[in-house]
Amino acid sequence: MTGRTAVTVRVPAKVNVQLAVGGARPDGFHDLANVFLAVGLYDEVTAAPAPALRVTATGPDTDRVPLDRTNLAARAAELLAARYGIAPDVHLHIAKDIPVAGGMAGGSADAAGALVACDALWGTGASREELLEICAELGSDVPFSLVGGAALGLGRGELLTPLEVGGVGAGAFHWVFAVADGGLSTPAVYAEFDRLNEGVDVPEPEASPGLMDALRAGDAAALAGALSNDLQPAALSLRPSLAATLSAGTAAGALAALVSGSGPTTAFLAKDAESAVAVADAVVASGTCRAARVAVGPVAGATVV
Ligand code: ATP
Repeated sequence: MTGRTAVTVRVPAKVNVQLAVGGARPDGFHDLANVFLAVGLYDEVTAAPAPALRVTATGPDTDRVPLDRTNLAARAAELLAARYGIAPDVHLHIAKDIPVAGGMAGGSADAAGALVACDALWGTGASREELLEICAELGSDVPFSLVGGAALGLGRGELLTPLEVGGVGAGAFHWVFAVADGGLSTPAVYAEFDRLNEGVDVPEPEASPGLMDALRAGDAAALAGALSNDLQPAALSLRPSLAATLSAGTAAGALAALVSGSGPTTAFLAKDAESAVAVADAVVASGTCRAARVAVGPVAGATVV
């Protein structure tokens, strides 16, 4: 113990600006070329000393967040404690703002946040490499939640290469996220992807050079033309009503609209902050989503506050 009473870590959501999915491998996983962008919607994870591991959560839809040891934040604390031969006696409180099961890596964010918070609380002093190893063990999207910014993820998405984003530094791009009612299970969306692609020779996933150029230039119009999500047809097949949300955002002037990751959150790239507010108002007014949130990206990964 470091003598600290509590440590709070803020962790961003992500949007996939490219999600290229290969065919199902013999082990059931898919190879991905995944370009992540961290966006300014945050969960906060607070770690405080406790007699035993305990998880609590507040925020929208937290009735759908498990509070037992299957919570990814609890698993992160257990893995770190096991590595250092200590007991994972900690109270993890998650103040949730990232949509639950929304395709924005909320659970992964909580795992990365818990890891950084416990490392600081316990004074374990794990190196960045060790933390990233534990993240990769926890899930494909967890390493990115730790590092934030923009990155290309290969393999199952966990082999990360940071990407440079031009423009005015942090917050170069303006986004709107439309939150749908209910979640979509990521495994169910991949199963639908496999069903839709049965008998199809799915090409090897490759990062798009045009997309990387657009990010490097901080050019929103070019990025809009290069956005892609191979899971979108599967998410739309499972949730056809998302098409109306996508159309409402485009009609209101969004440069581009796509499903975020495995959905059902939809993402809209706007020209500027003002246009983002107009798009957010329009998608809510269309009555096709529950709420809309405006956020900039890229932003930093898990950070002690
Ligand atoms: P991704 O974009 O990485 O595929 P997601 O954003 O669609 O994930 P999550 O919010 O991470 O989905 O939640 C997926 C499921 O994981 C939830 O339905 C829940 O059962 C479980 N889960 C475990 N830990 C957490 C957590 N800390 N927060 C939210 N869900 C969690």
